[in-house]
Amino acid sequence: MQTKMLIDGQLQPGSGELLPVYNPATGEVLVRIAEAGPELVAAAVAAADRAFPGWARTTPKDRAAVLLQIADCVEQHGEELARLESDNCGKPYQAALNDEIPGIADVFRFFAGAARCMGGSAAAEYLPGFTSMIRRDPIGVIAQVTPWNYPLMMAAWKMAPALAAGNTLVLKPSEITPLTSLRFFELIADLLPRGVANIVFGRGAGVGETLVNADPVRMISLTGSIATGRKMLEVAARSLKRTHLELGGKAPVLVFDDADLAAVVEGVRSFGYYNAGQDCTAASRIYVQDKAYENVVADLASAVSSIQRGTQDAEGVELGPLVSSAHRERVAGFVERARAEKHIEVVTGGRPGAGGGFFYEPTVVAGATQADEIVRREVFGPVVSVTRFSDVDQAIAFANDSDYGLASSVWTSDIGRAMRVCAELQYGCTWVNTHFMLCSEMPHGGQKQSGYGKDMSQYGLEDYTSIRHVMIRH
Ligand code: NAD
Repeated sequence: MQTKMLIDGQLQPGSGELLPVYNPATGEVLVRIAEAGPELVAAAVAAADRAFPGWARTTPKDRAAVLLQIADCVEQHGEELARLESDNCGKPYQAALNDEIPGIADVFRFFAGAARCMGGSAAAEYLPGFTSMIRRDPIGVIAQVTPWNYPLMMAAWKMAPALAAGNTLVLKPSEITPLTSLRFFELIADLLPRGVANIVFGRGAGVGETLVNADPVRMISLTGSIATGRKMLEVAARSLKRTHLELGGKAPVLVFDDADLAAVVEGVRSFGYYNAGQDCTAASRIYVQDKAYENVVADLASAVSSIQRGTQDAEGVELGPLVSSAHRERVAGFVERARAEKHIEVVTGGRPGAGGGFFYEPTVVAGATQADEIVRREVFGPVVSVTRFSDVDQAIAFANDSDYGLASSVWTSDIGRAMRVCAELQYGCTWVNTHFMLCSEMPHGGQKQSGYGKDMSQYGLEDYTSIRHVMIRH
């Protein structure tokens, strides 16, 4: 198993404390990896800083060629990477292989193309006798910090636009799920000039802090929790580094009486529990209009109880374990506190699964009200709450009454109502009669405390550039 970091083109072992990395489906330690000492973090940042001028001067065409090679490399090693991801996260192997690997390769291909067609205002004489033009230049060294839920995909979402725009980077994967990122950097080591992409391993407090505080780092790109986002802003407040934050979510799902209720139930069964609900866009907060409410709760309970749980390669497995024992306790705590409320009923699930792994039953919590913790806070597990609403204004008000603003969906057969609701929702993404679908061409990112960085799309590329004005006097 590859446990070394790529720093300045060389694979190097860590020099700090050994951290265990688990298989969440069994609770067994897969490997122990030494954290980067501060000298290795500094070496990684210095390497990225040295590599920056050269990489920034390459043509978009040359950078695109490298990104296309990286995409091919992901596909060539798809089975190996999917296996590592599924072992380390507990995900069903087939989901890692068939859902994530193609998406990861595609994001590198998309940014290969996008690098060559960056947009901007036309060069023109906006003042008589002066020609103005826009440049979009790379920013410099980017510190990229990723979460544990989709480790390689989040790395791809950050690395592809940063490299396409001509930046260099140091990535720090989550200490809980570092295995695919470490192997990936080994695989791409020879595709990039040395120092352009570096990886360091270790915990947030310590390695992560050292990285984001390092002087040559010009931008911090984080996908993680709101609490960590705030810490990044404290660093930025001191140093004025640019930030790109993709934080948590608590997606509302608005189900009107005229919706196709079978599609709603099927959709929530899929999109509320994918990746064991450890997804910032998970369909987690279901609001159902009065007339449909009882039917949706009953059908959802029955559909969710049929979700196949199991280890990575179990026949027909749909739901794996949670990522860690501590996270399972956190999820269980949310459900226990909800259960203690008289008006709430846990209609299916609500218990840890059997066996040595960190399993938790797929759970539906009905009768929740807008004030309940289970409706307001991100559970990040296979737990969906259902709340009743009476009319469109109340539905919109409930949905928007949240600190989060990442993803949302509306289910109705009335296209006019869908359009009105879309216009009034304060979310980075709203789906109509579906949920969770992503594509490389469209931006993914939030509003409010879900953050403001955009991943994927042309907007994601622009986030990794600095807009400059050049004016020439005639
Ligand atoms: P986390 O914030 O605990 O950790 C994220 C990363 O930040 C990890 O690599 C961690 O080591 C690092 N980190 C923590 N403290 C740090 C510090 N002080 N300095 C530097 N780095 C530090 O989040 P997590 O538990 O790994 O991931 C779950 C969270 O991520 C959820 O809230 C989820 O919604 C969010 N998430 C958001 C998106 C999105 O696109 N918006 C996608 C996936 C996950």
